[in-house]
Amino acid sequence: MIGGDDRIHRSHYAYQIDKSLVGKMVRIAGWVEEIRDIGKLVFLLIRDVSGLVQTVITGKHLQALKDLTRHSIVVISGTIQTGKAKDFDVEVKVDQIEIISRAIQPLPLDPANRMSVLQSERFIEVLTPKIIGAASEGGANLFSVNYFDTKAFLAQSPQLYKEQLILAMDRVFEIAPYFRAEKSHTVRHLSEFVSVDIEAAFLDSKDVMDLAEKVLLTVLDHLIVSVEGGSVSLNKESILELRRPRIERYSYKHCVDILNHEGEQIVYGEDLSDSALRKLGEIYKGFYFITDWPLKLKPFYIHENESDPFLSESFDLQFGYLELISGGRRHHDSCKLRRRIIDQGLDPSRFEDHLRVYEWGMPPHSGWGLGLDRLMMVLTNVQNIREVVLYPRDTQRLHP
Ligand code: ATP
Ligand code: MN
Repeated sequence: MIGGDDRIHRSHYAYQIDKSLVGKMVRIAGWVEEIRDIGKLVFLLIRDVSGLVQTVITGKHLQALKDLTRHSIVVISGTIQTGKAKDFDVEVKVDQIEIISRAIQPLPLDPANRMSVLQSERFIEVLTPKIIGAASEGGANLFSVNYFDTKAFLAQSPQLYKEQLILAMDRVFEIAPYFRAEKSHTVRHLSEFVSVDIEAAFLDSKDVMDLAEKVLLTVLDHLIVSVEGGSVSLNKESILELRRPRIERYSYKHCVDILNHEGEQIVYGEDLSDSALRKLGEIYKGFYFITDWPLKLKPFYIHENESDPFLSESFDLQFGYLELISGGRRHHDSCKLRRRIIDQGLDPSRFEDHLRVYEWGMPPHSGWGLGLDRLMMVLTNVQNIREVVLYPRDTQRLHP
């Protein structure tokens, strides 16, 4: 029903508003995304779960907009007409507007723009299981749980699921908590942390490194706007200092050479110890990538470097000594993947579900995982990860 005193029911979602409705009455409901006041008329952009609708308000209806704030809830009735805006081929000419719930405070962050970079790059948000039947990456730092008559594990990452999903969805991202039994007590490890993960078909390591850079620089740009607007109280100068035009990329080999030159004794092929990373962090302050790690240091799913198979097509994003992201290209050939699982001393029978997916036509793909809590440490300039998490979990702490 349209019109009358029905205050809350919509006739159409945003996605249903199209040319076939020109001349018809509709009633839409949602959040005020934007108020574009151009004098005699005002364009209100209304967002619902399915998208955006442009509405046009003129004449006596303009009165109703006096105290309207962004993100208030409105219900609007009107007639569909063709529009001139480049983003909307139709719009709603408003006959009746009701402000149902007025937003008093501007939101500290814009939920409509959640991960706008990833969405504009056509990534689809997914949610993968956190209770799993087998280790996703191997390794000893898994928590096990009693699961009815059997044993299950808490997911340490979405790695295998996100790789499987690109087969259907091409590009996916997930923001979710993961669990690792990190026995050593450090200022950068928690047993439960949040990771931002992406995985994408037909991209190589360099492509997803570019994306990581884009995401990070966009986050910093948004943060600068929020700091300037007063909704986030952080030191503006220190945030501006983090925001460089691009993020330098150094190969693992280059880092080993630099470190040895500085008196550290790093054997080419071995991992960079904590003290080596701290030294490197003094040399390269701020964000930088370390690329082309030795293959043997990386998990089984990482692809070798095509020009030097001793190395891998992989990278870490560092902030000083702190690792924020690990990523790289993955194997897409099931035989090679099986071989690598065996080489790393893992039992391939535990990966049969995963390996089967590879037989359905797996495209080349790459991705990364970003530790969100660690990024928060950097943005807020704190040294201990426990300070950026409401209820940190570590070897000593399970309450509150
Ligand atoms: P580290 O060497 O620092 O222990 P990792 O190489 O084991 O990290 P990855 O498996 O590469 O970690 O996970 C991807 C990202 O997730 C890391 O770069 C980091 O930002 C974050 N991360 C991993 N483990 C933890 C943890 N226990 N607590 C907080 N963040 C973590
Ligand atoms: Mn890592």
